[in-house]
Amino acid sequence: MGEFELIRRFFTRATPKAVLGVGDDCAILQPGPGMQMAISTDMLVEGRHFFPDVDPRSLGHKALAVNLSDLAACGARPLAFTLALALPRVDEAWLQAFSEGLMALADAHGCELIGGDTTRGPLTICITVFGEMPATQALLRSGAQPGDDIYVSGTLGDASLALAALQGRVTLPPEWLAFARPRLERPTPRIALGLALRGVASAAADVSDGLLGDLGHILDRSGVGASMETNDATYLIAAYAYSTRAGGHFDTYVSAQLARQCVLAGGDDYELVFTAAPAQRAAVQAASNASATPVTRIGQIEAAPGLRLLDGQGNVLAHSFASFDHFAA
Ligand code: ADP
Ligand code: MG
Repeated sequence: MGEFELIRRFFTRATPKAVLGVGDDCAILQPGPGMQMAISTDMLVEGRHFFPDVDPRSLGHKALAVNLSDLAACGARPLAFTLALALPRVDEAWLQAFSEGLMALADAHGCELIGGDTTRGPLTICITVFGEMPATQALLRSGAQPGDDIYVSGTLGDASLALAALQGRVTLPPEWLAFARPRLERPTPRIALGLALRGVASAAADVSDGLLGDLGHILDRSGVGASMETNDATYLIAAYAYSTRAGGHFDTYVSAQLARQCVLAGGDDYELVFTAAPAQRAAVQAASNASATPVTRIGQIEAAPGLRLLDGQGNVLAHSFASFDHFAA
């Protein structure tokens, strides 16, 4: 199968929202009146972001999910995406499963594949997403104010716990791993929550590299600091509640130190960390309900720079949780 037959078979779909989709030199999008476009790119490289034998359906899902997560963090509604693909060979069964996983998530969010590029090379997937929001309503990292509450959506730490188990750094009962693994391989972009937080949140970011690091981006861009209660960090891990319900003892398998590491610094959760004024607490709860996405208040923005982690008694903990950095020494 040649390049153009491959594109036609696996990556050409109807694109009713776009003015022009796959097949010409450019695709064409028309944002609605009064709307601004939000654009973001994320790349996944074999051996770096995923295991060579990962299920291609999950990989298709995740490649788009990590990009949609950036739109969610900006409060943007997904419109369209492009797909740049380097493939070592044409494997039709692999391409079929990959495109099905990709398109299922695209369809769920009304996000159209409007173009891309296809080349031979080490397996690499680069997606660019385009979204829209009413002018000046984007959620930015730079809007946090002293006194704001800090929240995180959903659950945190399961993706890095599953990764640690798959890499043999921790041993989990098989059914716990089976529970946590989809959080690593099939993350849920929090699009509905991002939309519901327009006009409510003062700042937002998605948690891709670890909570402390991504919250740190908000603090840097907003010129503020924060304090965060970390005693209850373990309860943010979905596998904790799962194992407890099943009558298991989480801390027999996962040390308190590893649990905190997963929640505070584990990457790949694709939840939202966001801030909102205390006067918005009811509105945040309403946004959570409207989007069927749980949110947990985890701390407070303060004027003094830096991030202070507190134990249950309000003492500041020394910490050295590094978030993920591809070029860290
Ligand atoms: P160009 O000559 O401009 O590089 P190509 O010949 O590579 O264009 O691609 C032909 C058409 O197919 C273009 O519309 C391009 O956007 C689209 N396309 C190429 N690869 C992909 C892909 N992986 N997914 C979706 N569309 C693709
Ligand atoms: Mg090309």
